[in-house]
Amino acid sequence: MIRIQKGTKDVLHFESYKWHFIEDKIRTLAESFGIKEIRTPTFEATELFARSVGETTDIVNKEMYTFIDKGNRSVTLKPEGTAGVVRSYIENNLSAVPQPVKMYYLTPVFRYERPQSGRLREHHQFGIEYFGSDLPITDAEVILVAKTLFDNLGIKDLQLNINSIGCAECRREYNKVLIDFFSKNKESFCPLCQERMDKNPLRVLDCKEDKCIELNKKAPIVLDYLCSACKNHHEELKSILDCLDIAYEVNPYIVRGLDYYTKTVFEFISKDIGAQGTVCGGGRYNNLVEQMGGKSVPAIGFGMGLERLIMVMEELGLSLGEDTPCKVYIAPLGEEQRKHALNIAMALRRNNISAETDYMGRSLKAQMKYADKKGYEYVLVLGEDEIIKGKGVLKNMRHKGQDREIDLSQIEKYFLE
Ligand code: ATP
Ligand code: MG
Repeated sequence: MIRIQKGTKDVLHFESYKWHFIEDKIRTLAESFGIKEIRTPTFEATELFARSVGETTDIVNKEMYTFIDKGNRSVTLKPEGTAGVVRSYIENNLSAVPQPVKMYYLTPVFRYERPQSGRLREHHQFGIEYFGSDLPITDAEVILVAKTLFDNLGIKDLQLNINSIGCAECRREYNKVLIDFFSKNKESFCPLCQERMDKNPLRVLDCKEDKCIELNKKAPIVLDYLCSACKNHHEELKSILDCLDIAYEVNPYIVRGLDYYTKTVFEFISKDIGAQGTVCGGGRYNNLVEQMGGKSVPAIGFGMGLERLIMVMEELGLSLGEDTPCKVYIAPLGEEQRKHALNIAMALRRNNISAETDYMGRSLKAQMKYADKKGYEYVLVLGEDEIIKGKGVLKNMRHKGQDREIDLSQIEKYFLE
């Protein structure tokens, strides 16, 4: 037997309703904010991710599904959603349409990670990207989108952490003091961090190793080194969040695992699903569009892990909708009636009333048992008599005594009344 790949999951046909429930909530929410869906390809040129996500990040360093295709090109399965959207924004000249451009995506994401609870090799993300505005109100709205989704799903206990990692100018100064701090404690950090220190010191603050987390607590914090523009942006965002009554913590240790962020970064964290508790992470990336060959366009967005979101909801016992059973079961008594059964089922289906019939050649007794088990609301038994008279009895499986005689040729009418 060939087994499923490590770190990937089937969503079986009797549980896919949970995904539909979440996806419907997401699409409705996005529309209510005027955000439209963008779909970008599952694979892109490897260089796109190397250049945007950053060579020194975990994603590019060790997590990418990269392969050489038959045309000898290096391609990579998308390890996050933003890079493809940015490529598309530039390639389709979207800076020429009225700004802001607000887009969302629902996409599978591929990362070669060690599989564990909340960490898969193929997971799914809902993400949004707002292009064109550098106003803090936009940062607040992006956070509000995630927050509103959590509210709509009934999730109350996610903690919002925000931080600012400044712009290139503040970071020049901050990197210096950070490198200075690290160099004094170099040997105590994990080997990977020792490597990262010089190339990309901010990355060290994102390390998940216990000893590095401890050491980082003593590191200088970026908020103390913000230039006045970045400082004002951060203060303004806080005051808008206060005004919106959105609770948050300023957490100076949040720097996010991707290179392209500037100014605002944020995460929504759950305490209910163990170590992999970050459900949503995002931030501003004001230099990325230009860095990738486009105009200088500020942007901000987030990515949200849907498997982790579902885990939180299941942990909290929140509703993920329900599997709606098919409505009508038509039980033919023999070969001849089976053909009619399909016709009657089609009349219902054409009117968006779900219907099925017997595909297994079961006896009436076995069919009734089956119909009961599957939870059909109505059963119509089709015998020779029914076909001759053109009439049958629609049996109500939920409410005894509410059976109804119906015209076989107009069965749908009963449901459309
Ligand atoms: P982590 O710190 O947990 O590795 P990350 O910083 O790598 O997360 P992002 O790149 O910000 O994550 O991705 C956005 C969201 O996607 C995360 O907050 C998380 O909910 C989800 N996510 C990321 N990697 C995985 C994974 N391997 N399996 C399942 N969900 C994931
Ligand atoms: Mg990660």
